[in-house]
Amino acid sequence: MEKIKMTIPLVEMDGDEMTRILWQMIKEELLLPFIELQTEYYDLGLEHRNATNDQVTVDAANATKKYGVAVKCATITPNAARVKEYNLKEMWKSPNGTIRAMLDGTVFRAPILVKGIEPYVKTWKKPIVMARHAYGDVYKASEMRIMGPGTCELVFTGEDGSVQRETIHQFAGPGIVQGMHNLDDSIYSFAHSCFSYALDQKLDLWFAAKDTISKKYDHHFKDVFQEVYEKEYQTKFEALGLTYFYTLIDDAVARVVKSEGGYIWACKNYDGDVMSDLIATAFGSLAMMTSVLVSPHGYYEYEAAHGTVQRHYYKHLNGEETSTNSMATIFAWTGALRKRGELDQNQQLMSFADKLEQAAISTIEEGKMTKDLALITTVENPVVLSSQGFIVEVRKTLEAIL
Ligand code: NAP
Ligand code: MG
Repeated sequence: MEKIKMTIPLVEMDGDEMTRILWQMIKEELLLPFIELQTEYYDLGLEHRNATNDQVTVDAANATKKYGVAVKCATITPNAARVKEYNLKEMWKSPNGTIRAMLDGTVFRAPILVKGIEPYVKTWKKPIVMARHAYGDVYKASEMRIMGPGTCELVFTGEDGSVQRETIHQFAGPGIVQGMHNLDDSIYSFAHSCFSYALDQKLDLWFAAKDTISKKYDHHFKDVFQEVYEKEYQTKFEALGLTYFYTLIDDAVARVVKSEGGYIWACKNYDGDVMSDLIATAFGSLAMMTSVLVSPHGYYEYEAAHGTVQRHYYKHLNGEETSTNSMATIFAWTGALRKRGELDQNQQLMSFADKLEQAAISTIEEGKMTKDLALITTVENPVVLSSQGFIVEVRKTLEAIL
């Protein structure tokens, strides 16, 4: 079979630990034999980030702006222990944070559904895609402990000298306060990313907050979404038969549990943090969760939602066999290849991405899987494969399909 050609490269961001090992295996077994793979390679492994004073992360984000599509391996976000372990010059920032700030994007997470790994919620038949706003609110709040009686106020002093004041509470005794903010720019970007991804995926969009209680703060989010929808997306949604609606967050959770799935659920930062873990777990496994950063300017960066699987990596370094699930990383590649294909009108590349996903899913449905899935599957007598073993089986299935 002749290899599939690419015209424009993907931005490839390599990463750390066990996922770096999987990355190499996926390329060797599942991509290079079938595609004349063109990538612009950036090594975001922690050692190279340290050597370049993290410039490589910035370069990779800029390359994503240039080419439009990136695929990223999981990376270590350094903490004190990592600074010691890797003898780092600094506690470098989270690469995902740096990239997100540069691309101004929203992260969408969707589970991979396979027969035999059943969601805990029986009615769920299709993926629920979570969209989490990733700026501000309680994550950038100022807090105070109040020790005794007194008045706490919100005060805004404009550069023009104007002052706005609001009493938070007249304390009769000790208590606590919190002040948080968000920015119009960020809320508009969030709304644009959600609507354009919904169109891209041909999925309905739900947005939920608590505007009945938060009459200015949450209400503003609701208004921005409505304005953006009416101005730029309503006609396109209607043409595709898609719906957008806003509802209260407590109404949304009730509807989500009773739904079949098959839509995007957009949440504010905190709701998204909590709900995306709930949705991921309820669908079965973190190792089956894909993630894509969508910028309002039309750049896409695909990755797995899980981390570098450190515990498995140390086993691997010890010479022990590992059984790490590569599904989400495979789907990061297929997501990026399909998007590249779409943008370049490369039908063969798009169809290859579909077939690779199909091969990976059928391999599991035939009962061949990694240990994490074998522990929760309803398939009887599953065959537990090693990290490499699973990828080799996917290749066999893929070759049969091709
Ligand atoms: P993790 O990589 O998400 O793994 C946590 C645990 O979940 C693993 O020990 C494993 O459980 C299970 N697991 C996750 N992915 C799996 C897979 N593909 N196959 C099988 N099991 C899987 O989190 P971590 O080990 O706590 O964090 C390691 C590093 O990842 C950290 O340095 C963190 O900064 C980084 N991180 C990066 C990203 C990113 O780049 N997007 C996201 C999150 C974390 P068992 O050990 O029980 O088998
Ligand atoms: Mg969380």
